[in-house]
This record gives sequence, structure tokens and C-alpha cells, in this order.
Amino acid sequence: MVTGNVGVFPMAMTRRNFIKIMCLAGGAILLKACTRADEQRADLESCQTAYAKLEAEGKLAERIEQAYGILEKCELCPNRCGVNRREGQRGFCRAPEKAMVYSHDPHFGEELPLVGQGGSGTIFFSNCSLRCVFCQNWPIAHEGWGREVSDEDLADMMLDLQQIGCHNINLVTPTHVMPNIVSATRIALKKGLHPLVVEYFQAGGGRGLRLSVSSARMEKGEVPEAWLRRRAGT
Ligand code: SF4
Repeated sequence: MVTGNVGVFPMAMTRRNFIKIMCLAGGAILLKACTRADEQRADLESCQTAYAKLEAEGKLAERIEQAYGILEKCELCPNRCGVNRREGQRGFCRAPEKAMVYSHDPHFGEELPLVGQGGSGTIFFSNCSLRCVFCQNWPIAHEGWGREVSDEDLADMMLDLQQIGCHNINLVTPTHVMPNIVSATRIALKKGLHPLVVEYFQAGGGRGLRLSVSSARMEKGEVPEAWLRRRAGT
């Protein structure tokens, strides 16, 4: 029995043919959806952090050595003081060779994709290479409140934040302690660090190795939101 327009349905539209066409159409839609999901999954998987990639390529240790070398005639930031921080000299930021940390805690006031349910794992570094007169963290940035920590201690702080459920490691004003951070990140990676490391560079930026994802890159949409959301569980 022919029930349709043969111009549209060139073959006879029997019930059997109708079911066949619907099955083919359904299969095609399902296949397309699966392919899309596979593509999205591949996108997420390929979004590897630079520091993990460098470590996998065996280059991270060398970069850390280079970074510490910069401290010998410090030009980590545009101030380019030229002091030897490895021999105890201090420049404009007043930072010593070791990192100084004021606190490490979950923070719920950052961009929503960073905060999720467990908070953003902030590490507040003492001292600062900008020393703005309107600084909201004056005692930490200007007066250097905090304590010196080894790179191993810093790595343990990252792992603590991971352990208590923070979705990322959020480095607040890290420019002047970049070598310490990179070194600590490597130690933490070896101990199982998996959250994304996020950096909050001071205006003017810093010289050196951009190993993590900056908030500016996130705001410009250069980091897939799906990746951030997956990590934040939102
Ligand atoms: S990080 Fe500190 S010591 Fe180094 S150039 Fe900047 S202000 Fe000077």
C-alpha cells in the first residue's frame, strides 16, 4: 500500500519501510550525539597544564634551575632590581630567596567557576613587587607578615588544599616567588597534585615562566569553561 508522496518518499511507504526509516534516522542522531560527546571528552583530555606537560617531557627540572638563576640578579618583575636574592640581598619587593606565606585556605570570593563547592585554594604570599598605596592586603604585601617556607612546605600546602576539597590552587601575587612556586608545583605533582594551578599576576606581569593558567586568560575565555566547571564540580 502506498500511503505517502512518492516525490518525498521514493519507495513505497509501508509500515515496514516507515519503521526502517525511523530506525535509520534515530541511529544517525544517536551516532552524531556520541561523536559530539567523544569530541568534547577529547577536548577536555587534551587540555593539559603546561607544568604537567613540561614534566612529562622531562623539561621542568631544568626550567626550575633557570628560574632560580634569575634570583641571582633578580629581574623577575619589571622593577629589575638586579639584587642577588640567593645571597640575602633584597630588592624593591623585600622578598627573600625563600617564599614567604601568610595563609593557605579555601576562598569563596573568587570567580564562580573557580569556587565551585569546595572553594578556591588560595595561597597568600608575603611581600609584593608593586607595593601599591591602596593595597587591600597591606600587612601582608607591604609589611611582609608571614613566614618563610621551603619549596617542600609550599608543595604540602598545595596538597593540603587539594585534600580538603579545593578545586584549584590559587596563587595570590606570585610574581616575586615564581621559582619557588614552580619548584613546589613539581614536588606536589610528584605527590599527586591534580587541581589546576591558577595565578594572579600583579599588573605589569613578571618575567619568567608562565606555567599556570592566569585569571586574565580565563576571563578572555582562553580556558574552556567546561574544563573549569568539571574541576569545580559545578
Ligand atoms: S621580584 Fe623583587 S627583587 Fe626581583 S626585580 Fe622584582 S621587586 Fe626586584
